[in-house]
Amino acid sequence: MTILIAGGGLSGLSLVAHLVARPEPLGPIVVVDDGRRPLATVGWASWSAEPGLLDEAVSRTFDRLRVHAAGRSRIVGLGRYKYRFVRGDDLAAAVTKSAERHGDVVFRPGRITEIRQAGEGAEAVVDGESLRADWVFDSVLRPGPAQVDGWLIFRGWHVCTAGPAFDSAVPTFFDFRTSQGRAASFVYVLPRGPQEALVEHTSFAPPHSQGVPRPKEQRSALREYLSTVLGLRDYTVTREESASLPLFASAVDRRCGSILAIGTKAGLVKASTGYAFHRIQADSAAIARSLAVRGHPFDLPRPKPRHLLFDATLLDVVAREPAQLERVFAALFDRSSAEPVLRFLDEESSLAQEAKLFVRLPPSLYSVVGRRHHR
Ligand SMILES: Cc1cc2nc3c(=O)[nH]c(=O)nc-3n(C[C@H](O)[C@H](O)[C@H](O)COP(=O)(O)OP(=O)(O)OC[C@H]3O[C@@H](n4cnc5c(N)ncnc54)[C@H](O)[C@@H]3O)c2cc1C
Repeated sequence: MTILIAGGGLSGLSLVAHLVARPEPLGPIVVVDDGRRPLATVGWASWSAEPGLLDEAVSRTFDRLRVHAAGRSRIVGLGRYKYRFVRGDDLAAAVTKSAERHGDVVFRPGRITEIRQAGEGAEAVVDGESLRADWVFDSVLRPGPAQVDGWLIFRGWHVCTAGPAFDSAVPTFFDFRTSQGRAASFVYVLPRGPQEALVEHTSFAPPHSQGVPRPKEQRSALREYLSTVLGLRDYTVTREESASLPLFASAVDRRCGSILAIGTKAGLVKASTGYAFHRIQADSAAIARSLAVRGHPFDLPRPKPRHLLFDATLLDVVAREPAQLERVFAALFDRSSAEPVLRFLDEESSLAQEAKLFVRLPPSLYSVVGRRHHR
């Protein structure tokens, strides 16, 4: 069976890793990427409880997180979980190594302008040339669902300081000491060492407010956070990154004939967190299993309705009343170990475990859950 992967970013490379890790021969595999999102400039943080196929690419591991909400700072342990960071370059190196062992993977530079069904299989137009395959996995062209449920808008600065300024052992998962005027916002800090960190301003914005907060507001919030909260006078911003990620809180229709959407295009960014790394690994493993066992890639687990309901509710509540995000996060993380929350966000909690988490949530959240549930 021939496989074409459109896009060699996180989901494309993860899929290669999981395909070549199967004992059954799957392929030949062609991965096409035009380099518009260079891997040297990207990286992904995520948490997981189990060892993963791509652990070789992990460069930083943490077992505690700092949170600040509702006027209170605390450091939470992660229990069974570890918080890990993977650099794009390291992911590419690990995947290339396993692909070389497999022997039938080609990484082809090129710009894809169209992906379409072609007879029993599908084809992608790459720099004007048609490439056919039995299955095409699309992380580049597939339009998302028409209805966006919210936006995660962020701007991060890679900051260097002359002296020690960051706690290199503890990332700040969220710190709400930033303006909440235009959208529910917090700052995230991922240290690289005592003198270097990614400091990111993150906002959950309602569906019709893309572009709010504006870059000028985000930069001013970052400056204020660095000077007022972290007390930094001298620092250098070596690089800036920014994105507006569409959030979907309903199941995305991923399949079109022999074409399957993967990654962000498949709705794999979790709407209540903005994280996708762990979900993309699970999805890649499921696709590889389905191809090996069923001969097609569509035997995939379906998202659980109650988790979609939580995501939709959170986005709904935050769109109406941005200040609720801080209350929800404060209530969820008001404990010495974040393990129960992370398990819930990974959609691996039982109903009884969720009931224990939910009793602490603000009552306004329940009324929206109830309204949505009865629709
Ligand atoms: C700045 C940023 C930071 C993020 N940080 C995290 C994080 O820390 N943890 C986490 O879990 N999630 C994070 N996310 C969310 C999500 O995990 C990432 O967006 C992730 O990269 C999604 O994987 P993907 O394969 O869908 O897209 P990408 O990784 O962007 O891959 C798509 C690839 O397709 C290529 N491409 C695009 N168009 C074409 C074309 N027409 N022809 C050929 N190639 C093309 C691009 O060059 C790119 O390599 C982040 C998102 C962004 C934008």
